[in-house]
Amino acid sequence: MKKIICPSILFGILLVCACSTGKTVQPTPEAVQTEEPSLLATAARVVPQPATALPPTATSRPDVPYDLISQDSLFDFLTDLTGIQPYSGWRSAGSTGEAEGFAYVADKLAGYSYLSDLGMSVEQQSFPVFLTVEFWESRLYLTVDGQEVELPASGLRGSRYDTMLARNFDSDGGLNDSDRNPISAAGAILVIRDPEQLEALQASDVAGRVLFMNYALIDYFVSGDAYTIAGQLAGVIAWQPAGLVLVTQNTNQLGQSHGTVIGDGGVFQRVGFDPKIPIVYVRLEDLSPAGIMDWDDLAKIGDARLIWDADVYSPGESGNLIAHIPGADPSQAVILGAHMDSPNSPGALDDGSGCVVLLEIARVLNLARLQPPVDLYLVWFGSHEIGIYGSAYFAATHQELLDRALAMLQMDCLGYPLNGSHPHILAEAWSYGQYGDERLLWPDYLSQIIQPQDVVLQTENIYGLISDNSNFSAFNLPNLNLEYFDHNMMAQGRYDVHYLSYLHDPYETVELAQQVGDALEGMAKVALAAAVETGLDQPALRAAPVPRQRALFVASHTEPPDVAPTALLELGMALAWEGIDADLIPYGQTLSAADLENVGLVLLMPTLDYPGKGNEKWSAEEIDLLEQYVLEGGFLILTNTYHNISMNRLLSDSNEDSQLINILAERMGIRFKVGVLDAAIVESDSEHPLMTEAQYLKMFEDNGVPFEIKFGQVLATAQLHPIIALVDHGQGQVLVIGDIGLLVDYGRDARNLDFVKNIARYVAER
Ligand SMILES: [Zn+2]
Repeated sequence: MKKIICPSILFGILLVCACSTGKTVQPTPEAVQTEEPSLLATAARVVPQPATALPPTATSRPDVPYDLISQDSLFDFLTDLTGIQPYSGWRSAGSTGEAEGFAYVADKLAGYSYLSDLGMSVEQQSFPVFLTVEFWESRLYLTVDGQEVELPASGLRGSRYDTMLARNFDSDGGLNDSDRNPISAAGAILVIRDPEQLEALQASDVAGRVLFMNYALIDYFVSGDAYTIAGQLAGVIAWQPAGLVLVTQNTNQLGQSHGTVIGDGGVFQRVGFDPKIPIVYVRLEDLSPAGIMDWDDLAKIGDARLIWDADVYSPGESGNLIAHIPGADPSQAVILGAHMDSPNSPGALDDGSGCVVLLEIARVLNLARLQPPVDLYLVWFGSHEIGIYGSAYFAATHQELLDRALAMLQMDCLGYPLNGSHPHILAEAWSYGQYGDERLLWPDYLSQIIQPQDVVLQTENIYGLISDNSNFSAFNLPNLNLEYFDHNMMAQGRYDVHYLSYLHDPYETVELAQQVGDALEGMAKVALAAAVETGLDQPALRAAPVPRQRALFVASHTEPPDVAPTALLELGMALAWEGIDADLIPYGQTLSAADLENVGLVLLMPTLDYPGKGNEKWSAEEIDLLEQYVLEGGFLILTNTYHNISMNRLLSDSNEDSQLINILAERMGIRFKVGVLDAAIVESDSEHPLMTEAQYLKMFEDNGVPFEIKFGQVLATAQLHPIIALVDHGQGQVLVIGDIGLLVDYGRDARNLDFVKNIARYVAER
């Protein structure tokens, strides 16, 4: 379960809660600063909802086979999935393990003959992502009483956003090669159990030794000094130990470490070290075959030997697996989603639980020989953990489907509660409360429809990115995420969902999931209701008005799949609220004249691609079409970015293509210039309606592309440079935005949401 807390830019700083602006605010100072894109805004508020009247039941309503949902089946699937490449990355994003997961599901689906006869199609998509890791080998050998024993050990994933930091976890340090370069190291061990021991170390203590360190010292979910200690550890690594073994120990006590995000790399996602040494992690509990039952027993170890081999790719490759089950009425559809990738952990909870629920829906429909009332799409998304890429790519490449879909349900994910927490099955959604309508129509509908099955489904209004479902919000498709979790515990602000629910954890195994099997069964029943009852009832699930016109997001030359659906989420919602339906032209699809019909707004995403590719190129036809659109009265928004972006987070790759759009812009007297605007704050004193209540904005820090205009008006500046401007051209207008981050809402005192609302209203009233 990766929930993205809005404001998206704050990734790495999780734990947010909704405030009066409806958007998130920073967590209390002592809240833990984390790196992973935790996707879970603290449930700002549980907004009591008026009961939605259920439509009268149709007489010929088929029985929905809830009783066929089986925990045995769910856990058989889960055992198989978590058995993929154990201690070797499991189903890590963009890895062979993720691909094996897709193959496993495809193989299971192929066995459902009733669905195949119905015309079920299974399709695999593939797309690039910024950074992936392939774990070839990680081995640990301990010599105790002269006997050498091999024990399970895993490598670490490094940064998802910075290739320099990520290279520390590539055994030969070179990106994009698949050569095997195992590094092996051996030596006497040195155990570090507390900060005092670490502080007291001398170079002579460390050189050539294999360090065994208690992970709790650098677990930033429980230790406020984690980064300070990480800095000390980097200093110790400079003394050239042979290797480092991070040791976790399981505990269900609040405030104690149980290894959260160790597979993701923990502090090493931000902290560099030199020289490169092999680093692996082990569970203390797994050392018992060597006669090691507790920390004191580590003293029994004579020597330790490590072998580690991994490769980092930028860009990497990932995919989606899509099962389309034709419904009785193909003019509508329901989409169920889960993410296949696990964060270099067994991932029985995150998100193996979601993956097996989707498979169980297929198994049950096949067994019951029940055709869904409307088309049903079961989608296993790839590369969620590194940037919710899969759902972004799916949304971008299935625009027609999104317009005929009734709703989308993401299952991410089952959690295992720490002592003292009281989890519930939650349906989390981002309402239009920031527009005055806090109704949660889709969660409410399911919450009521599932009651007769003795499943209690709580609804949560969350103003922030939640999980893959959020990539559908820009396109006005009702969506929610299903999760088993105690939100109140997180709302206390001290702890994060990963830590509280055993996610991204070396202990999130099938055995742990089985202890909350009833919750998983309940979640599967909710998913079955979504798949079948929704199409039967056709409830009104869209809060926004019926669209009167269209907007077009053009990402034809924006290769990173997740940039548009994530960065344009707020704008898409604001447009929908004004009766404007947003569609997207995905990467590689050339804009056509037909695309521009009845379009009140065209937004050009930044020209942007991944490293190593030749330059993007706009065709003369595309440029002529776009200029003509403006000349004839259209409203065009030009956006730009100095850095590459993933999930509203800046990557270590700068955008060499930021001036390419000048081929169009210069026709309107606009020119993007070389360089970057190092600023974070934007101020405006313009009276223009686009800047009403939007005098103070935030941008992606140090990401503005400077530009100049021959005509028109500067609406806002950053460090005295134009950053937002409006230019008339023919009968139309062009709004220039030098940093796409200005369209993202940061909550707090920044008025970006007002700016976005102004744009939508301006387009609606033009
Ligand atoms: Zn997840």
